[in-house]
Amino acid sequence: MWRRGTRRNQREAPSTGDWAVELCGVRRRYGRGARAVHALRGIDLALPRGSFTAVMGPSGSGKSTFLQCAAGLDRPSEGVVRLGGTEITGMSENKLTALRRGRLGFVFQSFNLLPSLTVEQNVLLPMRLAGARPDRARAREVLAQVGLDQHARRRPGQLSGGQQQRVAIARALVTRPDVVFADEPTGALDTGTAAEVLTLLRRAVDEMGATVTMVTHDPTAAGYADRVLFLADGSFADSLPRSSADRIAARLGELTAKAGAAPAPVPAAAALGGAPV
Ligand code: ADP
Repeated sequence: MWRRGTRRNQREAPSTGDWAVELCGVRRRYGRGARAVHALRGIDLALPRGSFTAVMGPSGSGKSTFLQCAAGLDRPSEGVVRLGGTEITGMSENKLTALRRGRLGFVFQSFNLLPSLTVEQNVLLPMRLAGARPDRARAREVLAQVGLDQHARRRPGQLSGGQQQRVAIARALVTRPDVVFADEPTGALDTGTAAEVLTLLRRAVDEMGATVTMVTHDPTAAGYADRVLFLADGSFADSLPRSSADRIAARLGELTAKAGAAPAPVPAAAALGGAPV
């Protein structure tokens, strides 16, 4: 009976497969010796499936390096990264590329749509690149979810910036990825359009079960996340549960002041503690 109980407990304990993103002891160093830059200084992090996480920090704190390492676009100098329970550290470049195409979604500041393809063809691209049969019904479904099913035959150049970013979100979601990585997704949008795009990312998490990890300078954008993680000099220095933009800006401002770094280009104020993430 004891053994049985033990097994059940083991089954209930979080296994690696229960996390969408895991980083264990991740370090990223550029260069060597005295001139080495320590961009990430030992990141330990586990993000649950169906969560929306924002990563903030002053310029140079390691946000881009974090995103690149977490998404398998760059290799850590040390440590382990797992996506959807699969360890990607040490994977061959070909396997990593296949994993990124099939199991990750990306949303960039600059939309990165192919101008010569229609909206629908852009959304189908991850399936084509992954070697899967392009599922037009699925493309129409995600385009409807982002409110653009009427625009499937248009080209990106015929759409507004906000509409183009919604196409990029549809493209990121089409394969039902383990994680969507978003890099300043509202950086090129006006306030109203940014709110629409962030609401969509929020809905993707709440209604479609997506997992979103977003790097942003913008406290308003971070206010849509379940949790905000603050990077300072390559380490996570603090986190906030879902908070107002003012509260997030205050924390970011203090972090920036403490780091003595150039202020991030946000309407920031001041403040950061030191709780482990
Ligand atoms: P952030 O996105 O928060 O501005 P980055 O991740 O871009 O920060 O950079 C973190 C640190 O690593 C900075 O000191 C930056 O200058 C350095 N860095 C980033 N990329 C490189 C690189 N390719 N070579 C050398 N140093 C780099």
